[in-house]
Amino acid sequence: ADGIPTEDEAYFPLGYRAGSLSGEGSSRQEPQAREQTHSQTKAPLALEKNQCRLIQAHIQLGLRSAQRYRDLSRINDWLSAVALIDALTQLNNRRAIDLKLPKQIQLARTKGTALSLMVLDIDHFKSVNDRFGHLVGDDMLKQLANRLLTNMRFYDTPFRYGGEEFVVILANTELTEGLGIANRIRETIAQEPFELTHPVNEVKRLDMTLSVGITQLHSDDDSQGRSFVGRADHNLLAAKAAGRNQVVGE
Ligand code: GH3
Ligand code: MG
Ligand code: MG
Repeated sequence: ADGIPTEDEAYFPLGYRAGSLSGEGSSRQEPQAREQTHSQTKAPLALEKNQCRLIQAHIQLGLRSAQRYRDLSRINDWLSAVALIDALTQLNNRRAIDLKLPKQIQLARTKGTALSLMVLDIDHFKSVNDRFGHLVGDDMLKQLANRLLTNMRFYDTPFRYGGEEFVVILANTELTEGLGIANRIRETIAQEPFELTHPVNEVKRLDMTLSVGITQLHSDDDSQGRSFVGRADHNLLAAKAAGRNQVVGE
């Protein structure tokens, strides 16, 4: 109806098949048409028209396939992006760290630059859920993710590592500088209470603190970053053991 030949027409247009262009009509061709293809005067024009239609049909089909392919690859891109984003906080998720960290390690080693990484964990977060419910807990996590983003240098990447733990990869950063960044973030969070969107039992604001473990990439760390993250995790445990709301790094 749109003037675009169907798939069948494109492959078998107007009854012509392989051989029809050399004058041998298919069984579907009328005798008169076959005569015309042998005619010296009319045949070239008829063939040209048919050839045009055939080419046009193939182009249309090609365009349709390309459009379908573009749609599919757009959906694929979208699915890949979605798979790397944490639905609650919109930060990159654990899967994204597994992809990004080896690349950052490789980059740091090739360029000979420093690389640091910190793991942040909310202190006594279970009690927030216990006292105010999981929805309030979820809201705190979203607010924390936003505050991490706004307090970070633009090229530092925060990830939601899992539950109430976050990882920040600090490119081009020595441990001493990383300790400063970690402490600044820890202080900012501790100093400014979180607003409850829906006050619970008259409580409108909640204090929240973070414990942070930080470390710098060593030359003997594995290329996937397991020992690197493991050391930051170990330092986080030390920060918890030392009383929470603090940064431990070595
Ligand atoms: P600590 O200071 O030792 O880190 O204590 P904690 O209570 O923060 O740690 P614990 O590991 O005992 O509890 C973590 C809590 O985080 C338990 C779990 O219910 C909560 N949590 C994890 N993911 C989510 C989430 O997506 N939403 C909410 N609301 N809570 C979560
Ligand atoms: Mg935890
Ligand atoms: Mg915790």
